Amino acid sequence: DLVANNLTKNFGSVAALRQVSLRIPGGQSVAIMGPSGSGKSTLLHCLAGIIAPTTGTVLLGNEPISDMSDGQRSKMRLENFGFVFQDGQLVPELPARENVAVPLLLQGKPRREALAAADMWLARLGVEPERHRRPGEMSGGQLQRVAIARALAGQPAVVFADEPTGALDQATGHEVTQILTTAAKMSGATLIIVTHDPNVAAWCERLVEIRDGVIHADSANVATSGSAQPGTARPGAPRPG
Ligand code: ATP
Ligand code: MG
Repeated sequence: DLVANNLTKNFGSVAALRQVSLRIPGGQSVAIMGPSGSGKSTLLHCLAGIIAPTTGTVLLGNEPISDMSDGQRSKMRLENFGFVFQDGQLVPELPARENVAVPLLLQGKPRREALAAADMWLARLGVEPERHRRPGEMSGGQLQRVAIARALAGQPAVVFADEPTGALDQATGHEVTQILTTAAKMSGATLIIVTHDPNVAAWCERLVEIRDGVIHADSANVATSGSAQPGTARPGAPRPG
């Protein structure tokens, strides 16, 4: 599980998060919604160990990631976390397959193995034909598929996505998000996705709504049976590859 205990984050006089507590079981898909400036990205960054909370702790399993040294935290991120952001953040000089191979190479995989795994992920996401193209030579939807391949290639326990389809038209955005939720599910990864799109949220098992730095609503707390309806399990949901 990924656990946040009483997270508070202040930026000067701005209280971006106020006493946020959250437990996300391994393998769950969670959408985080809320108005602009409500603290969604701040929460994601704290959970991912990208920024340190002002007070409170984040635990992965039983490991308090807020207590780690910078070096330990970077290593932990590399081994356990994958990231998809709005603008893909691929390396512009590298072809798609080499971009996807980056986390694997950083994990110490031999180059040949890393490239073979990269090709497999690109195929799974339907962009294998683009594998020799550089980011400047691909469409927005293709870029996000490559970014998703890279986020999943390292077989992370948790994938963090911050408005991963914000720059895409709605149809492409929906397609890419369904691919992301399905691929995360297939690989058993936890998915935490910040989105403004209610359709995207509907594909996740759980919806957490943030307002003004606090959790305003959490579908996990209203589910009577204790198990949410997994949106990704609907018949007709497209599968990658
Ligand atoms: P959006 O939907 O617009 O991306 P958000 O919910 O992701 O919004 P955050 O980026 O988490 O919002 O910001 C929460 C609050 O913290 C805002 O008031 C914002 O101005 C402030 N904030 C965020 N990052 C910083 C920073 N690095 N320095 C100062 N203030 C910040
Ligand atoms: Mg944000």
